[in-house]
Amino acid sequence: MSGQTKFLLQESQMPKAWYNLQADLPKPLPAVLHPGTHQPVGPDDLAPLFPMELILQEVSTEREIDIPEPVREIYQLWRPAPLFRAHRLEKALGTPAKIFYKYEGGSPAGSHKPNTAIPQAFYNQQAGIKRLTTETGAGQWGTSLSFAGSLFDLEVLVFQVRVSYDQKPYRRAVMETYGARCLPSPSNETVYGRSVLAQRPDHPGSLGIAISEAVELAVQRDDTKYALGSVLNHVLLHQTVIGLEAMEQMQMADAWPDVVVGCTGGGSNFAGIAFPFIGHGLRGGPKPRIVAVEPAACPSLTRGKYAYDYGDTAHMTPLTKMHTLGSTFTPPGFHAGGLRYHGMAPMVSHAKELGLMEAVAYTQNQCFEAGVLFARTEGIVPAPEANHAVKGAIEEALRCKREGKSETILFGLCGHGHFDMAAYQKYFAGELKEESYDEKELAMALSGLPSVAEPA
Ligand SMILES: *Cc1c(COP(=O)(O)O)cnc(C)c1O
Repeated sequence: MSGQTKFLLQESQMPKAWYNLQADLPKPLPAVLHPGTHQPVGPDDLAPLFPMELILQEVSTEREIDIPEPVREIYQLWRPAPLFRAHRLEKALGTPAKIFYKYEGGSPAGSHKPNTAIPQAFYNQQAGIKRLTTETGAGQWGTSLSFAGSLFDLEVLVFQVRVSYDQKPYRRAVMETYGARCLPSPSNETVYGRSVLAQRPDHPGSLGIAISEAVELAVQRDDTKYALGSVLNHVLLHQTVIGLEAMEQMQMADAWPDVVVGCTGGGSNFAGIAFPFIGHGLRGGPKPRIVAVEPAACPSLTRGKYAYDYGDTAHMTPLTKMHTLGSTFTPPGFHAGGLRYHGMAPMVSHAKELGLMEAVAYTQNQCFEAGVLFARTEGIVPAPEANHAVKGAIEEALRCKREGKSETILFGLCGHGHFDMAAYQKYFAGELKEESYDEKELAMALSGLPSVAEPA
């Protein structure tokens, strides 16, 4: 084994602007529609939920959007993030491929999510907001927003999906350490939560339900807004610091990816690493293959419909065109909680429809097997979500081995798994079920998609 393992940038080399893929798309994104009228929404329609700066980023077609100085200063607590060459994993696989990974687990929350939590808290504080509501699946987003809220003096209220609230008590302890309040969702604090509990008191919850609860409270008070940790264009935008840094670091390594791999829940860490490379390709640069990896138990990109749907279960959010399993679909309680969302980011969905990327799905045992091999060779224990990206990268490396190709593979290692060790224990005990969704429920959720005439 030889060669450099770690590629580090100076603080001064951290990107000064985020990259907006909307500037380079060959076809613009389909319009976002009002949930009631089905007419295109304007910035004012979103104002009860988000501060205007974030709404403007949502619809912007500017290629570069400056990162505010206070945000860059906080980013420097963990950015620039390292890029590693996975020499030992390559050796274990016996592959001629070169594998690189960009590690986002060094942030205070242990994942990529603070990359957007910090700017979201900043813009809300600038707009005079005092309180943020949000949802969290695995607890990563709730942790990240709680951390951001503590830096910008914002109260944070987190609705945590019931099954993960029960599985991960330490996540809640971290959120409370940052000063946030955390409730299991469905909860008794909202009209919608109470209606869900009335139907099914032991409901495991879902991100769609938790979003409805958080939105319900946000629209009731002028000093309160809602923050979303994935899916939306502005969230994907903030995550592009990952790919922009990785581009610099691949150059330092004197290499360029033939394949870029990321895991997809709502699509933000994937977009973060992939969109700068897609845009570079659209502007005439090399075009690496771009591969999204999703869980077989919640396969929005590979099994969902590309259609207009609601972002939440109570149908309070606007309609966006995306790959969706249906907003009433409740994914099974598998362990990559961050990937249990019925829809995919509209911009990722659009990129898939335009043929700018591919998608594959793997089961959770396949992904844990990959994550354990990664831990035993590279040392970092990946988050269960990140295991999907590891699995995707390993499959590409094994393909290179079969084909005798020395391609370069880059993947996003979006977080560490230190709060997810109960899932690893279950995997080792052979107790991790291959959770599969109920085909009938999926068919029902898909048949319930709103019928919407797409505006010309
Ligand atoms: C939240 C989360 C995800 C899923 O969200 P995306 O928006 O798809 O990135 C994936 N990995 C980790 C570690 C997460 O915390």
